[in-house]
Amino acid sequence: MANFIPLSVPNFSGNEAKYVNEAVVSEWVSTGGSKVGEFEQAIADYVGMPRAVACNSGSSGLHLAAMMAGIQQGDEVIVPTLTFIAAVNPTTRYMKAEPVFIGCDDRLCLDPAAVEEFCSTKCELQGDKLIDKATGAHVRAMVVVHVFGNMADMPALLALAEKYHLVLIEDSTEALGTYYTDGPLKGKFAGTMGDVGVYSFNGNKIMTTGAGGMVVSNHPDWAEHAKHLSTQAKADELQFLHDEVGYNYRLTNLQAALGLAQIEQLEGFIAHKHMLWDLYKKALDGKNGYRILDFVEDGVRPNKWFFSLYLEDDRHDRDAIIDALKAEKIQVRPVWALIHEQADYPGSQAYGLEKALDYRARIVNLPCSTNLSVEDAQRVIDVLLKL
Ligand SMILES: *Cc1c(COP(=O)(O)O)cnc(C)c1O
Repeated sequence: MANFIPLSVPNFSGNEAKYVNEAVVSEWVSTGGSKVGEFEQAIADYVGMPRAVACNSGSSGLHLAAMMAGIQQGDEVIVPTLTFIAAVNPTTRYMKAEPVFIGCDDRLCLDPAAVEEFCSTKCELQGDKLIDKATGAHVRAMVVVHVFGNMADMPALLALAEKYHLVLIEDSTEALGTYYTDGPLKGKFAGTMGDVGVYSFNGNKIMTTGAGGMVVSNHPDWAEHAKHLSTQAKADELQFLHDEVGYNYRLTNLQAALGLAQIEQLEGFIAHKHMLWDLYKKALDGKNGYRILDFVEDGVRPNKWFFSLYLEDDRHDRDAIIDALKAEKIQVRPVWALIHEQADYPGSQAYGLEKALDYRARIVNLPCSTNLSVEDAQRVIDVLLKL
């Protein structure tokens, strides 16, 4: 009987057990201990930032980012609709702010043309504030998600953030390792170009700490403030004085131990992703009504976290394909239901949706684990070609 092929699972083939054991033997298993700081520095060094602040999930990192951005009750925040809900809830609802949903471009990322259209036709600049003419709300920030490890169009989005005085939050939870190899942003990693960026180390991401996240910022005081808020906003450790409402968003030493072993392997993981993606691309693109969606590779090194099979031919039924693969013990999934259609966002503003609706209807994400063998990928290909 054939083995189960999961969509995206952890790969612990390095020093994970060794470093976790060190943490256990030292009895530093909770939020104290040296490994959290070491892991913060390792991520900071990898993405070329002076400082990174660990937290216990990408979602909590995005909540910290929203607080850093100064999002206030009643503000509006430009967010993508084709994304995971944790890009939106922490940056809008947690802050009592309203989302303005925007569709995607062919990178599956926030469409700069639709953002420009919203800002220029529905809003006006009053001093340095962008005001939504219909609601009177201050449009304060924009959340950019680097979907599946593809780099969003950062030159265009950074220019829009500057033009319209928007704080730019980069949800880089899927894109650790994606960076510009050329052009005006050469050397810049996804997550490091906006005001504040967030990574995730959830179990399905390109590297994992079980659960965890990291915040980086181009404002050194924002990073320090994020640390403060993530550690219960203690102003005086001994006297338990707290100078604002903080959170327990800390990463543990045990998780940091896993992270230190994972970051050692990250470039190898990315190389394996590239190899698998090439295999799928060669075998499936243009065959049987399929396309394998490209990553931007002109001037970008993507991490290729998730692979998208696009059902070009209308005779394909997405959910029937998912079921057929499931019957062969192969786990795949559709792209997320669009956020502007979710239960908590009725009647929200939403613009430029055409491509997001199309990709939502036609994408199936294929197995892409960093320990997926060529033989198993070939089995996925064979099943797909027979459908
Ligand atoms: C995974 C993910 C998050 C949340 O990260 P967690 O660590 O799971 O909380 C946020 N946004 C996007 C786009 C994600 O894929």
